Amino acid sequence: MRVIVTILPQAEFVEKVGGERVHVTVMVPPGASPHTYEPTARQLMDVSKAEIYFQVGSGVDFELTFMSKIVEINKRMLIVNCSEGIQMIGNDPHVWLSPRNAKIIVRNICEALVQVDPENEDYYRENMRSYLEELDDLDREIREILKNITDRRFMVYHPAWGYFAREYNLTQIPVEKEGKEPTVRGLMALIDQARELNRRVIFVSPQFDRKKAEAIAESIHGKIVFLDPLAKDYVENLRSVALKLAGGMN
Ligand SMILES: [Zn+2]
Repeated sequence: MRVIVTILPQAEFVEKVGGERVHVTVMVPPGASPHTYEPTARQLMDVSKAEIYFQVGSGVDFELTFMSKIVEINKRMLIVNCSEGIQMIGNDPHVWLSPRNAKIIVRNICEALVQVDPENEDYYRENMRSYLEELDDLDREIREILKNITDRRFMVYHPAWGYFAREYNLTQIPVEKEGKEPTVRGLMALIDQARELNRRVIFVSPQFDRKKAEAIAESIHGKIVFLDPLAKDYVENLRSVALKLAGGMN
C-alpha cells in the first residue's frame, strides 16, 4: 500500500503498524520545517499514486497551505486525520510530542490501514499492540527521568513542547511568541527572566535559526541544547529529549 505522511514521526508510526505492507512517502524531509516547507513536483507525483494520506490534522502550516491541492491531485485517496480524539492546546500543532497522543495517532493509523486493507487486519492490530506497549514503556521511563526535578521550567526557542510539558507537568517558556521572532524588548525581558529563574540552557529545534538562540545563551552565560521535534526514531528521540530537559532544569 502506498501511503503519504506529512512528517517523519508519522512515517515511524505508520511503518510500525503497517510493517512490510506499506510504502511511506514523507512530505516534509529531514532538516526541513513543516512550518515553511513546500512540496516538490516529484512528491506530488507520489501523492497521485497513493491510497492514504495521513494528515497530522492539528493545524501544521504545511497542511493548512497544501492540503486542498493534495486532495485535488488524488480524489480517490483516503484522507485520515491522525489527531482525531486528541485534546488540543490552543493553536499548538505539535500534538505528536507526547507518548499518550502518539498512542492515539497510532490507533487512528491502524484503523485506516484496516479500513483500506481489511484482509490483513490481524497483522496490523498485532503490530499496533506491540508498539503501544513500547510507547507505554517510554512514558514510564520519561516519568522516572523527570521525577526528581523540583523547578520544572525550561526555556525553548520554538515552542514545540507544549504537549510534552502538559503531560509531564513541566512549564515551557518560549522565546518565539505565536510563531514570531521576539522583538528587541521581548528579548531583553526574556534574558532578564532567564537570569531570574537561573536557567542556563536554551533548548533549540535543529530546524530553526540557531544564531539568535546562541546570542541569548551567551548573554545568560549559558548554552544551547538541541531538542528535535521531528526525529524519525520516536521512542529513542523522546527518551533523549527527557534526559536533555532533565539536565537543563534543577
Ligand atoms: Zn514547530
